[in-house]
Amino acid sequence: MKLTVLGSGCAVPHPERASSGFWLEAAGGKLLLDCSAAAVHRMAQEKLDWPELDAIWLSHFHLDHCGGLPAFLFGTRHTPQTQTRKKPLRIFGGKGLKNLLKAFDEAGNYKLFQQPFPVEIVEIEPQEKWEILPGLTAAAISTPHKEESMAIRLTDAGGVSMVYTADTGFDMILGDFARGADLLLMECSFYQNKPVKYHLELTEAMYLTRYAEPKRVMLTHFYPEWDGIDLLEECKRFSPGCEVIEAKDGLVVEF
Ligand SMILES: [Zn+2]
Ligand SMILES: [Zn+2]
Repeated sequence: MKLTVLGSGCAVPHPERASSGFWLEAAGGKLLLDCSAAAVHRMAQEKLDWPELDAIWLSHFHLDHCGGLPAFLFGTRHTPQTQTRKKPLRIFGGKGLKNLLKAFDEAGNYKLFQQPFPVEIVEIEPQEKWEILPGLTAAAISTPHKEESMAIRLTDAGGVSMVYTADTGFDMILGDFARGADLLLMECSFYQNKPVKYHLELTEAMYLTRYAEPKRVMLTHFYPEWDGIDLLEECKRFSPGCEVIEAKDGLVVEF
């Protein structure tokens, strides 16, 4: 699988870090993990094949994770690149996804779901397992962040796996959920003294990494508090037990 970082930042506007979005290419297709407003244009900037996107996972309904979706659908409805597309676009997220998208649509009578191709909206329950792309199994668990927020674990036919925590507070269950993953994509919003309990700071992210023993961990969702701090140098203090990668917009990793 190949992961491209579209946005390694949070909701706060930042000159180098767009808000959340990750493009995953697997044998069975292309999956977008979260869709911030910035992610829509970042896909084009990275020359990714966005007209052929197969599925979208929305980890939760904070706008730095889902705010780009209505704009993306508004674009695909009208752009020449999607007029001959026939395969469906499938959108997955937690309880309330259908109502959220309906509200977006009705706010401006946009007809977001009258597309040249079918759009399927699927609400996922925590603990559910399903096939998110052909040959790519997904499992989700609830996270302490928002009522509908979930972490997702993706496993391909060969057993290669990645876990995306998305936004979350500290919970040891995440460590169990991420155990042994080939890539653990974990939020690390704050360096220290986090101002809210429903995000992670470095000590917690490193603790979960040591516990989960992934092959690699990529930290993301950085608040501007991180500016000027050498993240990788800081991580060394914790002996994380695996390679640590700092997410940067445009970074590509294969696993
Ligand atoms: Zn966020
Ligand atoms: Zn959030």
